[in-house]
Amino acid sequence: MRLHNHRGPRCPWILAALAFVIAANPRAFPAAPYAFSGQQAFDYLKRDVAFGPRPAGSAALEASRQWILSELRRDGCQVREDKFTADTPIGNIPMANLICVLPGRQKEMVMVTGHYDTKLFKKFRFVGANDGGSSTGLLLELARVLAHQPHRLTYWLVFFDGEEAMVHWSATDGTYGSRHMVARLTADGKLGRIKAMILVDMVAEDHLDIRRDMNSTASLNKLVFSTAERLGYSSYFHANRTTGIDDDHVPFVDAGVSAIDIIGLHYGPGDGLFGGYWHTAQDTVEHCSPASLTIVGRVVLSTLDALDKPSK
Ligand SMILES: [Zn+2]
Repeated sequence: MRLHNHRGPRCPWILAALAFVIAANPRAFPAAPYAFSGQQAFDYLKRDVAFGPRPAGSAALEASRQWILSELRRDGCQVREDKFTADTPIGNIPMANLICVLPGRQKEMVMVTGHYDTKLFKKFRFVGANDGGSSTGLLLELARVLAHQPHRLTYWLVFFDGEEAMVHWSATDGTYGSRHMVARLTADGKLGRIKAMILVDMVAEDHLDIRRDMNSTASLNKLVFSTAERLGYSSYFHANRTTGIDDDHVPFVDAGVSAIDIIGLHYGPGDGLFGGYWHTAQDTVEHCSPASLTIVGRVVLSTLDALDKPSK
């Protein structure tokens, strides 16, 4: 390749013509066409929270579901709604996982997942801005970015219903959507197509504190935390601090799929894990940060990029 130095009288004309085209149609040459925007993800979060408390089976969750589906269709996703009935301690509840499929050249797939339900609380108003809203916002923004980006692998962006326990967290109360999906993909013989499953949960906290989860697959931990370090985010992704989280990734890990949970552990002013706002009336938009969504979004996109490269 040779580098041409275009110093000469034609160059200003070309620049002037280009400037005119951009001025006439700002969408023609956007500066960074489909870069991940934490602000955009945060706007999605706010719109989701505006539906109010969104426990599984509620009218508010149904309204949120229709809004998510319409946003995904607008991004050009192939959208699937996988409805099922969950047997919970408070009776049968209709639920639905939402799947945005972005086909690649290969059937092998990477999933990015999160939950869009919020925990049911009767004694206070729980809107789940971070716990439910942040994963929803981040996934919607990822759909917007990935729909316009070439990729080898097939991507599934999955919004799980029923992550939260209806009464008390246990092996059978909670993770309804992810357990249903693993059962479904196992029955369809598609589980083996998953190269990696990346879960995001509570990723909009102000003081982002993500630790290496020992229930996640070691090789994915290594990839995600080294990616975060390369991007200059090691003060948010603490590779040397460990935790053990039970979440929507566990049914996948138990079924032999490589999976990781990227989860914020310091939400609020307290020193303890989850910081004090988790599962309280304080889980509100004011306590969420677009900057944190940007950091996690960039790490997820760079991880996807690394996974998309054919292994040597
Ligand atoms: Zn929760």
